[in-house]
Formats: sequence, C-alpha cells, structure tokens
Amino acid sequence: MVKLPIYLDNNATTPVDPRVLEAMMPYFTEHFGNAASRHHPFGWEAEEGVEYARTQVAKLIGADPKEIIFTSGATEADNLAIKGVFEMYASKGNHIITVNTEHKAVLDTCKHIEKLGGEVTYLTVNHEGLIDLRELEAAIKPETILIAIMYANNEVGVLQPVKEISAIAHRHGVLFFTDATQAAGRVPVDVTKDGMDIMAFSAHKMYGPKGVGALYVRRKNPRVKITAQMDGGGHERGMRSGTLNVPGIVGMGQACEICRLDMTEELKRVKALRDKLENGLLEIEETYFNGYKEERLPGVSNIAFRYVEGDALMMGITKSIAVSSGSACTSASIEPSYVLKALGLGDDLAHSSLRFGVGRFTTGEEIDYAIEHIRETVAKLREASPVWEMFKEGAEMNSVEWAHH
Ligand SMILES: *Cc1c(COP(=O)(O)O)cnc(C)c1O
Repeated sequence: MVKLPIYLDNNATTPVDPRVLEAMMPYFTEHFGNAASRHHPFGWEAEEGVEYARTQVAKLIGADPKEIIFTSGATEADNLAIKGVFEMYASKGNHIITVNTEHKAVLDTCKHIEKLGGEVTYLTVNHEGLIDLRELEAAIKPETILIAIMYANNEVGVLQPVKEISAIAHRHGVLFFTDATQAAGRVPVDVTKDGMDIMAFSAHKMYGPKGVGALYVRRKNPRVKITAQMDGGGHERGMRSGTLNVPGIVGMGQACEICRLDMTEELKRVKALRDKLENGLLEIEETYFNGYKEERLPGVSNIAFRYVEGDALMMGITKSIAVSSGSACTSASIEPSYVLKALGLGDDLAHSSLRFGVGRFTTGEEIDYAIEHIRETVAKLREASPVWEMFKEGAEMNSVEWAHH
C-alpha cells in the first residue's frame, strides 16, 4: 500500500536527505559559533565546518573552493550575479542578454536592471524550449557585458547547450552566467568543461536545506569581479556580508557530496521512474509531451492533458499526488505558465499542463499509483466535459480555438 500523498514535485523543492540532516545537527547546538569569530574555538569549529562544506560544494561542480560564495539561495545568487556584474562592468557596457523562459529570479532582476538604465535582450525559444545559438551570437553588441542563460529549465527540464553558449560568450569577450539550480546535483555540471564564468545554485533542490545556496565566481581565465549587493562585515571575500548560516552551509556541503557520489546511479534510477510515469500518462488519449525529450533533466516530465480543465485536474489529484502547474512561484495565480506559452502552447493547452518531478525518494509503487489515479481522474473529468463530448463525436474542432502543438 502506498502512503499518500505522493510527492512528485521535486523541482519545486526536495526533502532534506537524512544523511544531510545528521551532518547539520551538531552545528545548531555544540558547534554553534559564528564562523567569523577569530578568537575562540567556537568560531574556529564553525569556520572549519563552513570551509569543509566549501570544498564539498566546489568538488561537485569542478570549481576551486575559493570560487564559492554562500548565499541565502539561488534567488539571492541570481540577483548578486546579474546586479553585481552590471555594477562592476558599468564602464564596459550596459547590455545583458537573457531568455524569456528564465526563472523569475533572473527575469525580474533583469527588469530591475532596465529600470536602472540597462538594456536587456530577451531571446525566445523554439517549441522544445531551446535557444537558437545564431540568434544569441547576433544579439551580442559592443556594449554587451553578460549573457544570462539557465542550465536547465525548472518547468520542462530542457538543458540549454551551455558549452556552446560559453564558447560564443568568450569569443566576444562577454561573461556567461548560468542559473544551474535545477541542474546542479542532478546532471554532471562542471564549470571547467562547461565554461561558465558565474553560476547560481541552491541546496533545497538537491536534498539539502532551504535558505542556503551558492554563487560560483570564476577566479582565472578570466578573473571575474562582482559588486557586492549586501553591505556589512565583508564576509565571503567581501562579496556577501552577513553572518554565515553555518548549519545550512554544512548541509549544502553534505548534499553536494551525496549528489556527486551517487549521481551516476541516481540519474539512471530517477530517469527510469520518470520514463515509466511519462509513458504511462502519454498512453492516455489526447495527452502531449511538453519540452525536448533528448536533452533534459532526468526527473522532470511536463504533460498537457487536452480537453481537461487544468484547475479541475489539479483539484482532482491534489489530495493524493503533489504536482505543479506552471512554476511553484506563479502557481498561486491563474495565469497559465509563461514558460509553456514561450514554447508556443496556447492558453488552453498551457493551462491543462502539469509538471511531474520524480526524485531520490520516489518509488515504483508510487509511480504505478500515480499513473492509475491520473488516468481515472482525467477520464472522469472528460466524461463530464461538453468539449470532450464534441471531440469524441468528431465535431469540427477547428471552430473551437485550440492551440496546435
Ligand atoms: C528554485 C529555483 C530558483 C530559486 O531558488 P531559491 O533557492 O529557492 O531562491 C532559481 N532558479 C531556478 C531555475 C530554480 O529552479
């Protein structure tokens, strides 16, 4: 018997791995010191915990520990990267290139930059969610200082060609920043091989605690500088002031280490479960896959259930299965996902889409239950739907405004 509700929203957040919690616990009580206290063992112990975590985090992404700055999460890291570069490189230019399927933490930061007098180009994506590299290169101008393109999309999981993007950026002497929050810990991310200059990621998307993240800032070839956005005691090499969240950072370190050691095996297992779920759901009549099947995160699947009202579907399954429509940050509103719309879906199909996120602790029984329960719910909703009846009767659907996928 499966335990309900089933959690299939691992792209919104992940549970803390018990091994991570275990590593964190002593840092709340015994080793509670301020990592910046230089004159007693309480401070030294805390600092030791932080510095060990820094090596663990760096190792996951092929970086040097000195290149890691701890933040309160990926939102802060995104803000620090974009605003920090904009300020630091103001004498070089004011133009930033990004993509319209980025997370709000990047898009809204770019909007802010525009208010400050910056210029932002928002690239579009194809129906699979991929950018066009020629369009990217054509958008570069002498004033361009930064390309901000995410590693993996949080709604459909599509992986952008980061290696090619960094090659283009460097050919033009432009910095490349990537929001790797969904990718780090889930697929092999390597700042040396992939070539990004700045990279944001977060602990709570990789079985670590909430409220802690990191920004990678390259120290050579080229040496990247960013202007601090938080003034104060000069922690984190002056780039992020504020007393360090020692237990959180220790947890992030441990989470990174587990991801690094288990990645090959976990990637296969999660992908197999995701594929089983996806194939099961796509067997339902009039369901469509959203995104790019070839290059994407192992755990995510975004599926449109045509002729089903999105909210009703969500309501129908939400008691037993936790999933997401649109991104978690915008799902409070009834607006359909801007990411799916950017992929070319019409309002209706975007509204009828759900994101499934399989994770480390998902079981095969849970997947079986989910397929069955969703199949039944979709059938029930369609039975009561006049649009479905029309479809079934072979009505002329062109007269009804459905987006073609
Ligand atoms: C979750 C997420 C964020 C925000 O991360 P927080 O640590 O919750 O601030 C940013 N970007 C992407 C792609 C995400 O998935």
